[in-house]
Amino acid sequence: MADLTTDVLVIGGGATGAGVAWDCALRGFDVILVDRGDLAEGTSGRFHGLLHSGGRYVVKDMPAAVECVEENAILRRVAADAIEDTGGLFVTTPGDDPAFGDRFLAGAREAKMPVEEWSTARALERERRLNPGITRAFYVEDASIDVWKTVWSLARGAREHGATILPYHPVTGILRSNGTVQGATVLDRASGEERTIEARVTINASGAWAAQIAHMAAIEGVGVVPGKGIMIAMNHRLVNTVINRLVMPADGDIIVPIRTVSVIGTTDERQEDPDDLPVTQAEVDQMLDDGETLVPGFRQARALRVWAGVRPLFQDEKADSTDSRDVSRSHALLDHRERDGVDGFLTITGGKLTTFRLMAQHTVDKMCEQLGEDRPCKTATTELPASEDHRFYALGDRLAKREVNLADEQAICECELVTRSTLEEVMRRRDSTNLDDIRRQLRLGMGPCQGGFCIYRATGILHGVEELDGEQAMGSLNDFLEERWKGVWPILYGDQLRQARLDDWIFQGLLDVEHVPAETAGLPTPVDAELEPATLA
Ligand SMILES: Cc1cc2nc3c(=O)[nH]c(=O)nc-3n(C[C@H](O)[C@H](O)[C@H](O)COP(=O)(O)OP(=O)(O)OC[C@H]3O[C@@H](n4cnc5c(N)ncnc54)[C@H](O)[C@@H]3O)c2cc1C
Repeated sequence: MADLTTDVLVIGGGATGAGVAWDCALRGFDVILVDRGDLAEGTSGRFHGLLHSGGRYVVKDMPAAVECVEENAILRRVAADAIEDTGGLFVTTPGDDPAFGDRFLAGAREAKMPVEEWSTARALERERRLNPGITRAFYVEDASIDVWKTVWSLARGAREHGATILPYHPVTGILRSNGTVQGATVLDRASGEERTIEARVTINASGAWAAQIAHMAAIEGVGVVPGKGIMIAMNHRLVNTVINRLVMPADGDIIVPIRTVSVIGTTDERQEDPDDLPVTQAEVDQMLDDGETLVPGFRQARALRVWAGVRPLFQDEKADSTDSRDVSRSHALLDHRERDGVDGFLTITGGKLTTFRLMAQHTVDKMCEQLGEDRPCKTATTELPASEDHRFYALGDRLAKREVNLADEQAICECELVTRSTLEEVMRRRDSTNLDDIRRQLRLGMGPCQGGFCIYRATGILHGVEELDGEQAMGSLNDFLEERWKGVWPILYGDQLRQARLDDWIFQGLLDVEHVPAETAGLPTPVDAELEPATLA
């Protein structure tokens, strides 16, 4: 007997899976979404932060460019709260071919992408740190998009329409009988129990892991090429506009200002295992050198953190290519009825974060077609929770809120302006002892000190809110520090090295965290974690 039954089971809680759940819920389907970890803990939470205008693809990948142009406009309408309207510049740096700009303009026209050629003086006036040797500049509608706000709003919206959202529920098997997929077994990581979820349709939205899930359904040959990319967050906004180098897509050619930092990225390298993403010194050096080309002095700026993500690039297994950047950035919807003779199962992979809504629409349209039900898509015209007023996020929003309560609210994280009441509220909602879950919701510990000053305070508060004992609280602290350290050690130089030394004195010297008894942190409550992101500025 199934523990749970539903119309649609969605596997994967990244932007695509959350988008599918939102789309299904708006069309009146009963939905359950599961993820093996927290929402947006896969590629979506490790991306570059760019809502593409389409400019990156207008010369090389026209279908991808057109999708970006259209989806950029739609997301600006329905997900404004997650978007900062930074605008974008494509610039020709010294040594780049200025004639590429003509191909760019021709592509932009074909893709119907809004673009304006600016004088270099105008571009330099807007972005004073830009390389003064640029020879051409084009203004486009790039923006930065906060993925955690996006995914949590999708999940919250879906839930308000009846969906069940189950983070920390990895799929352990696919239920398949007589050529039909009938759901999946999942492990409830909080309780350790296995649960069965029966569904009319199962949607595999597990991104770079899609081949692994298909394999569980005894479907082989799903060609997902994991393409690893690294990114480095610098400690403040070196630019306030997205800066793209006007060349064929290459490494380290985009700087995205997002929240209080700016992020340079990225690389693209085939990887065997989507869970094994080492960052090398050579990659870090290359990224910093590339930053220098766009913004002279980049190398002297303080690097906060480096991380890697893995692109789910779909490629026909027969194609012979070694560079994962050659694979189209358009998405792939696999109809397993047509492809493999298996009913009740669809795979959606590839694409970009910018196109997650379209990917979800195509998937749910196909599902409706297979079920013989006519239920039109509503996601292009329905605002996500917190975006109803169509107001874009603005950099000063948190500061403005903070200034109102400066005298009567304790600041816990000074870098990201997180107050005690906000932190306590989110801790209660998440009911998680994992401080990394709280970090993803509030950006706690993501500023220059990387948790050095806020995380021991947050641990004390967590201890009270969750009624932990000392060992559990120390376990939460240790887990957080270990996770943060992974992203800090490859970029230890200059001021960040000094900061890391100070953090080390606090945690090893004063608190002796390595030797205090600790128990590994637990997980959120099993059923439907609270999804309200209202306090996220
Ligand atoms: C370095 C880099 C930079 C990028 N930058 C940009 C950018 O600036 N703009 C842009 O538009 N796009 C960008 N992309 C692309 C974009 O990030 C991805 O296309 C998008 O996030 C994929 O979302 P997804 O939901 O399909 O996959 P994911 O976010 O990876 O979601 C898949 C989910 O499946 C879950 N899962 C896996 N196995 C299981 C299992 N057994 N059981 C349950 N759940 C499971 C995972 O935990 C994961 O959460 C970038 C990608 C990379 C790698």
